[in-house]
Amino acid sequence: MRVVVLGAGFGGLELTTRLSEEFGTDVEVVLIDRSDHFVFGFSKLEVMFGRAEPEQVRHYYRDVVKPGVQVVQSTIRAIDPEAKRVETDAGTFEADVLVVALGADLHPEATPGLVEGGNEFYTVDGAFALRDVLADFGGGQVIVAVTSTPFKCPPAPSETALLMHDFLTRRGLRDGSRISLVMPLPMPIPPSPDASKALLAAFEERGIDWHPGTLVRGLDPARRTALLADGAEMPYDLFLGVPVHQVPEVVAQSGMAVDGWIPVNPMTLETQFPGVYAVGDVTSVGTPKAGVFAEGQAAVAASGIGALIRGAGESTTYDGHGICYLEFGNDQVAKVDVTFVAGEMPRGQLEGPSPALVADKAHFGSSRVKRWFDRTWP
Ligand SMILES: Cc1cc2nc3c(=O)[nH]c(=O)nc-3n(C[C@H](O)[C@H](O)[C@H](O)COP(=O)(O)OP(=O)(O)OC[C@H]3O[C@@H](n4cnc5c(N)ncnc54)[C@H](O)[C@@H]3O)c2cc1C
Repeated sequence: MRVVVLGAGFGGLELTTRLSEEFGTDVEVVLIDRSDHFVFGFSKLEVMFGRAEPEQVRHYYRDVVKPGVQVVQSTIRAIDPEAKRVETDAGTFEADVLVVALGADLHPEATPGLVEGGNEFYTVDGAFALRDVLADFGGGQVIVAVTSTPFKCPPAPSETALLMHDFLTRRGLRDGSRISLVMPLPMPIPPSPDASKALLAAFEERGIDWHPGTLVRGLDPARRTALLADGAEMPYDLFLGVPVHQVPEVVAQSGMAVDGWIPVNPMTLETQFPGVYAVGDVTSVGTPKAGVFAEGQAAVAASGIGALIRGAGESTTYDGHGICYLEFGNDQVAKVDVTFVAGEMPRGQLEGPSPALVADKAHFGSSRVKRWFDRTWP
């Protein structure tokens, strides 16, 4: 049995680890990614605000040494979900079971003026480049804004605004600056009213302007002005945008996407193609696009693939549960325990913010690095 896993992010790494743990060399797992390393989403903010060095947050796939697993660094060029065949720059891979975990591609160029007149903080390159931009920033009007929906990690723009407050305060620039947060959502974290309330209180306490229910559609670089979907204009000195998200081009061309993303059975993560699963940001499964959900979906897909390999047995179904950590700045972290079930209102419980949860969040990262890369981190 050969399982070919496309994409070594949260979903692909967790799925590969589970199959190797259960079956060792009895199953051949091929994990393909174009990059030679993985970076947690939250580490992008750490580097951007100068709290970590880029090299400290890169986790190299050469460290993924597991029984039965072959890691291939190559770009995937074509996926045939009927034949379960994949074309890459390193050749063709035939699968008995195929798992698509290719995430969402980010398109700063899709927002007029963003590349020329602003910055984005969602790609590794964009966030790491912002480290120098922020170091040179002398204060002024800062806009943190979302340019389209859906977008990954809905709390990340709120965290960025709070960390920006700390950053400017530490550098003595806060009094001469203004921070505005433009979000398409009606509140910072709709599934958790408690978390939203805590964030809104934190914005108010810190003097961060909150603009809900709208998007930035474009920038006018010549006038240093952001153009909002509701017709308003906002001047800026520093613009930090969440770029447009789309399914990777190779997925769009495969015919697997419907209305932009891959539909899956929300209980099993199976696609409409027999023997083909999809997990994480690349799907329209109904949870937010976040690593914790990609990981939970990978566990369920691994369980289904395990049942196929054994030729029988129980497999688990997806419960839509995940834990998100929220950076409040000022060495405080909160935790939201949230569950998304189709047809029901999502339920989210808030813990913190507190300094104690900083260690909890660090453990979340280090435990994944240990499991996936067999490394101690940090
Ligand atoms: C600033 C920020 C903060 C975040 N904070 C959190 C957080 O605190 N908690 C949380 O749970 N989530 C967080 N996220 C979201 C999280 O990073 C993603 O939702 C998660 O990584 C999705 O996992 P995935 O496996 O679906 O896709 P990804 O992790 O994006 O992995 C997809 C992989 O596919 C590869 N790939 C894509 N196309 C190709 C191709 N054609 N050929 C070969 N390889 C390809 C990519 O290189 C990538 O490694 C954050 C995101 C951002 C941007």
